Amino acid sequence: MNKHYDILIVGAGHAGAQAAIALRQQKFTGTIGLMGNEKYAPYERPPLSKEYLAGDKPFERIMLRPESFWGERDIELLTGHRVAKVDPMGQQVTLTSDEEVGFGKLIWATGGSPRMLDCPGNQARNIHAVRSRADVDKIMAALPTTENVIVVGGGYIGLEAAAVLTKLNKKVTIVETLDRVLSRVAGETLSRFYENEHRAQGVTIELEAMVESFETNDEGMATAAKLTDGRMLAGDMFIIGIGIIPETGPLVAAGAAGGNGVDVDQHCRTSLENVYAIGDCALHSNPFAGGALIRVESVQNAN
Ligand code: ADP
Repeated sequence: MNKHYDILIVGAGHAGAQAAIALRQQKFTGTIGLMGNEKYAPYERPPLSKEYLAGDKPFERIMLRPESFWGERDIELLTGHRVAKVDPMGQQVTLTSDEEVGFGKLIWATGGSPRMLDCPGNQARNIHAVRSRADVDKIMAALPTTENVIVVGGGYIGLEAAAVLTKLNKKVTIVETLDRVLSRVAGETLSRFYENEHRAQGVTIELEAMVESFETNDEGMATAAKLTDGRMLAGDMFIIGIGIIPETGPLVAAGAAGGNGVDVDQHCRTSLENVYAIGDCALHSNPFAGGALIRVESVQNAN
C-alpha cells in the first residue's frame, strides 16, 4: 500500500466517519484516509439490533452517507484493513497484512469489540454478537430454522434483539446477571417499565441468572445454556449482549496511557504525540459525570 495521509482515521464507524466529514466541512484541504476493518462503507450501528434485524430497513438505508459521498469529498475509504501496530514516532501504522501507512495526525476511532462469554462451549457457531452488519446477517440467515432464542445480557442490545425476535414469532428468554435490566443506562423505574413491557409481549426474563457453560452437539452447535443454579435453557440460537471491550490494543502497546479505554484530554489528544482518540474507546473527563473519567458508548458522543 505504502500510502501517507495528512490525517489517517482508524475506525470507520460513527466517530471516524463524522471526523472525516467535519474536517471537510471545516475546509481542511489535506489528504484524509478513513480506514475500517469491515468491508462496507460507514453505516449506522443502532438500527442493526432494530430495523435492520427486523428486515424493515435494507442496508442502503442505514448507510451514513451514499457510497459516492466519500470520493466526492476526497476522503479515501480504506475498507477491510486492520491496524496491528502504531508507531507514533515514525508516524506510521502497520496493518495485519504487513503494509505500512504513514500519517501526519492519527485519529483512533475504533470503538470496541463485543465482549463474549468466557466459558465452555462458547465457540459454538450459533452463538452470536450484535455489533456489525456481518453479525446481524448471520443471525438473519439462521432465523428460518430458529424457534428458541436465548439472549444473554439485558442491556440495550439484549432487549432490542429480544423485542425484534419476539415480533418475528421467536420464543425469547433473556438471562441477566443483575436484579434488573438496563442497569447501566437507566434508573430502577425505567428498568421495571421495560421489564414489564417485554414480559407482557411474551419475553421470558431471568434476573440474577448467570450462564456457566453451553451444551454443544457434534455439529459444533450449542443446544442449551447451563445456568450456575443448574437449570438448562434449551435454544437453537444464542445472542450475547454484555457490552464491549474497547479496541485500544495497538495504541496501548505503543505506550498510550489508558485503562478501560485510551486516555484523552479535552481536545481528544492521547498521551502520544500526533495521536487522537474519539468515540466509544476514548476515556475522558466528562462534565455530565462530575468530571469522572468515563467512556460513553453512544452515537451522540461519537459525533
Ligand atoms: P450492551 O450495549 O451490549 O447492551 P450493556 O453494558 O448496556 O451492554 O448491558 C449489558 C448487560 O449485560 C448488563 O445489564 C449486564 O448486567 C449484563 N451482563 C453482563 N455480563 C453478563 C453475563 N455474563 N451474563 C448475563 N448478563 C450479563
